Amino acid sequence: MKWRTDNANSSARVHGTTPEQEWEEQLESWARTLQSVTEAEGVAVVERMETGNIPTPRYGEIAQVIRRYAMLARQNDNHQYDLQKSFRCLACLDTGMANVWNPNFVESYEPIFRGVQREEIDRTRNAFNLDKYDPDRMVAAHKYDPPDWVAMARRWWRGLESSEGPIYHVALCNCDSPRTIILKRELDEYNAGRRKTSSGKKAGLPACGAATYNPEVMPLRTSVPYDDLFHWYQRRGQQC
Ligand SMILES: [Zn+2]
Repeated sequence: MKWRTDNANSSARVHGTTPEQEWEEQLESWARTLQSVTEAEGVAVVERMETGNIPTPRYGEIAQVIRRYAMLARQNDNHQYDLQKSFRCLACLDTGMANVWNPNFVESYEPIFRGVQREEIDRTRNAFNLDKYDPDRMVAAHKYDPPDWVAMARRWWRGLESSEGPIYHVALCNCDSPRTIILKRELDEYNAGRRKTSSGKKAGLPACGAATYNPEVMPLRTSVPYDDLFHWYQRRGQQC
């Protein structure tokens, strides 16, 4: 409002008009700037300003900035901002690389994992407003005993004589997404001793590492490590 008032007043002084006339002209100018932008495109740009993905310009430039980003988004209509994007492969999200638990670790760790306790935290305590922040109750919060069980597991595994490799790592996915095919070719080259850098030197492993994802023995590693192992051991218990 301050910008609007000051701007209309000073323009009126310069042009010898009234602030109302100046404000009307300002609105008309914005309307012309934005005439080829749809409402949905404009709202999408404003939302990105609100979330900090686009810097919010000074008011005088807001219409031009909205137009510029709306046109860019239309040009790059390659679903860059499409949150509905679906993946061909859920194990690697089409990157060719799956995050997996080390099967040898998973095998040995089961008895210790049984001693890790998890308890759901009552999020309504401390007057946390669930209706406002998580109306669909999508997020569960837990506390673990011991709280640093993953770090402890890592130390325990490193100390074992039979330990080999980290407790989790990346592996070449077993799917047929285009990136997986490229990585597989690179890994084959490496294993044959033929993988070279662009300058002709011997190159190291490709980004997927040396292992190949085997869903029979490797649980996928997600952002909830407790669930990864809990469900894995539970499912295996049912098969026996
Ligand atoms: Zn995959």
